[in-house]
This record gives sequence, structure tokens and C-alpha cells, in this order.
Amino acid sequence: MPKSLILSISLIMLSTLSHSLNFPIDSRVPGGIAVINLETAEKVQAEFQGKKIWQIKDKDDNYWAIIGIPLSQKPGYVNFLVNGKEKKFLIENKAYKEQYLTVKRKHSNPPADQIKRIQKESRLSKKAFTRFSEINQDAAFNAFLLPSHGPISSPFGLKRFFNEQPRRPHSGIDIAAPRGADIIAPADGEIILTGNFFFNGNSIFIDHGQGLITMYCHMDTLEVEQGKMVKAGELIGKIGSTGRATGPHLHWTVSLNNTRIEPLLFLAPDSL
Ligand SMILES: [Zn+2]
Repeated sequence: MPKSLILSISLIMLSTLSHSLNFPIDSRVPGGIAVINLETAEKVQAEFQGKKIWQIKDKDDNYWAIIGIPLSQKPGYVNFLVNGKEKKFLIENKAYKEQYLTVKRKHSNPPADQIKRIQKESRLSKKAFTRFSEINQDAAFNAFLLPSHGPISSPFGLKRFFNEQPRRPHSGIDIAAPRGADIIAPADGEIILTGNFFFNGNSIFIDHGQGLITMYCHMDTLEVEQGKMVKAGELIGKIGSTGRATGPHLHWTVSLNNTRIEPLLFLAPDSL
């Protein structure tokens, strides 16, 4: 076989490999995830900071732990528990971008008559993010599809300051797209919560199982109902600017073990 042909075949094989993911991308930083080989053929009792953690079986029937790391986590060694025994992994530092905005005071705090509604929505969101279901329990990991196409107008982890006051860092990514553009499910799952939220507008939560939950906000219309099972690629809604949004975009959050993490770690490298 000519050398050039061998080279092109191996290049094709290499590119196929790099486009498929067996796991989300290991990134041991605040807001990232740790992908750790548990070196066992049996599912274990695994916990991180008091929360159950996701386990994926590889092709050799070996289990791996996938742990969401909070943005507020200090770098250094942290413990997780495997069948009651402490194990450690190292979290590196990551400097996220900062953004300073000047806003009118009346927009930075919600009106008093909306407080009860906001509290109720916060309880519903918390309940959704803390679920740990058996959905897709023994399924192999499939890289997420990008839920909507457009430039990322605001990255995950962005540190925002309104009138010099620090706000919570950005807990997802914003994808800018025209009003009415499609939003699809990035992976199989169950629609566990839908509604019109004060801050987030028309929103959907999908449970992908094992503590992996995704959220879609500011939608123009919702195209699925609570309780429905969806497949990767299925239409769930349309881009809009409902709730507190300055223009049409999708706010997309990925949460694992009730920890908001970088959504890009779940995408195949060629999907952006
Ligand atoms: Zn956002």
C-alpha cells in the first residue's frame, strides 16, 4: 500500500476517533467535571459533597465516576466517597472572564409583589436540579447535540458586576439566535418541568438520568409538555426573549449532582 494512502486512512481513523466521546470531557476546574476511573466492574455507592454521583460503564464493563465541580470550589485536593472510603482528586484554578455593566436600579432588584412567585419558582427549580433518576441508567454516553445554532453571546462562568456589585457568575451559556429558531433536546431524557418563570421566562428542564439535568430559558414557545420522554434531536421549543432577556437567545444550563457546569464539556469537539 502506498505510504500516502496509509497516512490518509490513519488520518480518517484519527478524525473519527476525535469526534466521538465515550465520556464528557475531563476538566478538573471549578465549573468543570472530573472523569475518574473507579476500576471496578460493579456499580458502587459514590458520593461527592453529600450528593450521589453519575457512573458510566465503559466497553470493558468498567465503571467511571463523572463528578460536577461547583464554580465556588477552591482549587486543591477534594475528597469523594466510594463505598464509604475516601478518594481524592486535584482541582486546578481557572480564571473566568469578568463583565461590568451599568443598569438602572429598578431593573437590578425584582418588585416586591413578585417575591412569592420567585420563591415558588426557585423551589421548583431546586427540586428539578436535585433529582437522581434511573433514566438512561445503563446507557453508554452519547455526546450532546448543540440545542440551538448561533454564536455564544455569553460564556459559562462569566463573572458579572451590575453597578460594581458582584452578581452570581453565569451558570450556563447563551446562544444568540433569531426569534422562532428551533431548540432541540441535546440527548434523550424526560421533560420534568415546564413553565413561565419570572427571571428565566418560558423554560424547560430535561432529566437525562443519574443527576444530569439540563435547562432551557427565555423560549418564545414550548413545544413539549411536562412528563414527555424526548429523544436527542427532538424539537422542544423556539428561541425567544421571555423573562429577563435583552434580546432573543437561548440560556442553556447543564447540571450534574446539583452543580451547574460548563455545557461545552458535553459536546463533540466538532459541534461548535
Ligand atoms: Zn444566560
